[in-house]
Amino acid sequence: MKTVQQELNLFQPSSFEEISRARNIPKLTITFKKRLRKSWHLTINADNHKTATLPYLLKDAPEEIKEAVLDWAALVKPRLTRKRKAYYLQKRKLEKAVWQYLEEQGVAFKQKRVINPDTFTHNTKGIIYDLKELFDSTNQRYFKGKIQSFIRWGSYASKTSYQSYFNDQHGGKQNLITIAGAYNHPKLPEFAITGVIFHEMLHIVHPRYKKNGRNVIHGPEFKKAERMYPFRDKWYRWERENMYKIIRSLRRKKPGYSKL
Ligand SMILES: [Zn+2]
Repeated sequence: MKTVQQELNLFQPSSFEEISRARNIPKLTITFKKRLRKSWHLTINADNHKTATLPYLLKDAPEEIKEAVLDWAALVKPRLTRKRKAYYLQKRKLEKAVWQYLEEQGVAFKQKRVINPDTFTHNTKGIIYDLKELFDSTNQRYFKGKIQSFIRWGSYASKTSYQSYFNDQHGGKQNLITIAGAYNHPKLPEFAITGVIFHEMLHIVHPRYKKNGRNVIHGPEFKKAERMYPFRDKWYRWERENMYKIIRSLRRKKPGYSKL
C-alpha cells in the first residue's frame, strides 16, 4: 500500500488548497491565468487577504514548487529597512525555484510576454546598492532625467548585463535593464556599478542598428557618448582587474552552482 501512496503523490501532487489547508495558511486565495507564463503576482486587499495569480502550469507542479509559491505569498516585507535584506534574499530564492521549474516546463525566457511592471520594482535592492536609486541619480546627472526604464538584478553571479523590452498589461512597450548578478557584491565600487548602469542606459538612447547587414551595437556614436561618463576608463580598468576574481569567488561560495 505504501508504494501506491508514493506513486499517487508523485503523479498527482496535492493541490494548492490541500497544501495550504494542511499548513494552516489563512487569508490566501490562489487563482490561475492562462495568459501568464513565467510571471505571477500577488494582490493584498484592505483586510489583508492575499490573492496569488499564477500561470496555469503551476497547477500540476510538484509539491515543493507549490510550497515555494505559498511561502512566497506568505512573505511579509519588514517595516525596518535593516531587516529587509533577509526578506529579499528569501523572496528571490523562492522565485528562482519556481522560475526554474517553469523554465524546465519549456516556458521560453526570451518570448515577448505581457508583464506587470511591478514585477521589477521589487528587484532593485542589492547587498550594497539599490539599482533604482543609482538609475535615478544617473538619469538626472547624464540624461536630464529623460530615460524611462525599469531595472533589476540578473540571477546570482550572472556575468551579463543587458537592455531589453517587455510589454506591459496596457499594451505599452517598456524598457528593462538587467544588471549582472555578479555586480551584486560587497566589493563593487560605485563608479563601476554606475558605469554599467550608464552603459545600459546609453543603449536606450543609441539603439542597435543595421549597417551593411551587420548589427551595430556599440557604434561610433555609442562609444563617443560613453565618454560622457567621467569614470569610464577607471571603471573599465577596475573590471579587467577584478571582475573575474569576483565571479569566481561568488561561484565558489555557492556549491553546485554551474549555470551561467
Ligand atoms: Zn553594451
